[in-house]
Amino acid sequence: MKNRFIVDGMLGSLARKLRIFGYDTLYNADLSDNEILKAASSEGRTILTSDRQLADRASKRRINCILLNEENDEDRLATVLREAGEGEVHLNPEETRCSVCNGEVELVGRDEVAGAVPEGVLAKQEKFYRCKSCGKIYWIGGHWKRLNELSANLKRNNQDNKKSPPQHNSPPATSR
Ligand SMILES: [Zn+2]
Repeated sequence: MKNRFIVDGMLGSLARKLRIFGYDTLYNADLSDNEILKAASSEGRTILTSDRQLADRASKRRINCILLNEENDEDRLATVLREAGEGEVHLNPEETRCSVCNGEVELVGRDEVAGAVPEGVLAKQEKFYRCKSCGKIYWIGGHWKRLNELSANLKRNNQDNKKSPPQHNSPPATSR
């Protein structure tokens, strides 16, 4: 099963990306550290934070926590995936979560979103995804291309990590 996360108030854009990659991610900028610790403990979530104090408190209570010192979301994501043992990310529109509210999305047809999305989009797109919780509608637009690039960078990063250190007697590289 995928890890579930709770993200502290400073890292909202990281929370949105994790949701798009399909991770159940709680994020509410109004939560206090105590509330974050409590939710992580009761819901079995891993805390993601840049706050060393919060990380120390989590570790004293044996709550999973990943301390992030990176400067950008791509590096933060790489660290989260590595530390949480997630391996590669998969960008799959049907598994994505609503970046606004963390709700699950469902595939809906063009007729169901007419009037709710711009006409140009309606004409061009065939598949739409609607959040089951807040009703926000998504489609595979320009942001998806950027996320695909991010996903490819993360995969590359992941493979580079695996490559070192070099090993003896390794079988010839095969392409998969
Ligand atoms: Zn939503």
